[in-house]
Amino acid sequence: MVTLEKRDIRKLSLQELKDFFVAQGDKAFRAQQVYEWIWKKSAKDFDQMTNLSLATRQILKDNFAINHIHVDNMQRSEDGTIKNAVKLYDGLVVESVLIPTKDRITACVSSQVGCSLDCKFCATARLKRMRNLSPDEIYDQVVAIRQQAELFFNRPLTNIVFMGMGEPLLNYTNVIEAIDKITSPEGLNMASKRITLSTVGITKMIRKMADDGVKFNLAVSLHDAINKTRSSIMPINETNSLEELADALKYWYQKTKRRVTYEYVVWKGINDSEEHACALLKFCKHIPCKVNLIEYNPIDDGEFQQASDDAINMYQRLLTDNGIVARIRKSRGKDIDAACGQLANKQ
Ligand code: SAH
Repeated sequence: MVTLEKRDIRKLSLQELKDFFVAQGDKAFRAQQVYEWIWKKSAKDFDQMTNLSLATRQILKDNFAINHIHVDNMQRSEDGTIKNAVKLYDGLVVESVLIPTKDRITACVSSQVGCSLDCKFCATARLKRMRNLSPDEIYDQVVAIRQQAELFFNRPLTNIVFMGMGEPLLNYTNVIEAIDKITSPEGLNMASKRITLSTVGITKMIRKMADDGVKFNLAVSLHDAINKTRSSIMPINETNSLEELADALKYWYQKTKRRVTYEYVVWKGINDSEEHACALLKFCKHIPCKVNLIEYNPIDDGEFQQASDDAINMYQRLLTDNGIVARIRKSRGKDIDAACGQLANKQ
């Protein structure tokens, strides 16, 4: 395929693009125009660049490709949630979700094709990791959802969460580059504080993010605060224990002063007892935080089951009585398998 052989123009920095035009005997400012087309205006092909001459467009076509994502299939849930199956230039597919609420429209985006982490309750884990997404593939998912927000809801996109497929901290460089573009005036000009990155808790990378001075929010998929149980459902815990996680989070808080959100599912027979709730409360004391008690979305085989309302309320009461903000979060888009952990369920 031709597009695979040519360089993706969005791999070039503005300076490299300037150098290209100068080498062609053209003006450097041409690069600025093209840069605006490929990022700010998200052009999908060179013919959209109508302020460039036909000859310039031809030079670009001869030298570069724009490997834009392609929304292959869009499903709408009865609650308004939209799930996109996103086809990448090499034919692989990821998913991204638009979640509308009363005062927000949130884009939930993927960072990898598949995932290497093997969390026992997550559908994406069953796909295995195929590759990292490039910065522009992450950016394009946001652009697509931004357009859908305008088209279907007549409202702007307000928030972005890295809670789609993959582990963002195992594709750190590309995720950061995408966020830089998303927040830059040359890109989508969105506020960093509207962006949340969710991780299983790769401690080394949490420290790196703190050192890098990132300005977005951090969420950690905790799900249990006792090592033995957490390791049994999230193998990452074997090498990144709760003690190491707590240390990394203290470091994060010390450097960023941003409180962390813990995502937590309560499952029948796994963590629905008071012992586990108390362990969570103890973990919450490490740094300022809040807890989202998220509904479990079944993924076919029924090994995991949502705990009773009583158990979930017990958790919420214990946390709130001790000054920790804890919300019970209902799932969105369940009927189209767009809810947390369901991405890739039916592929
Ligand atoms: N790898 C990152 C990003 C994925 S976010 C992370 O784990 O944080 C997806 C969120 O959905 C995580 O909090 C994950 O633990 C949660 N999740 C996975 N499977 C789920 C399921 N079946 N039901 C509810 N939440 C699930």
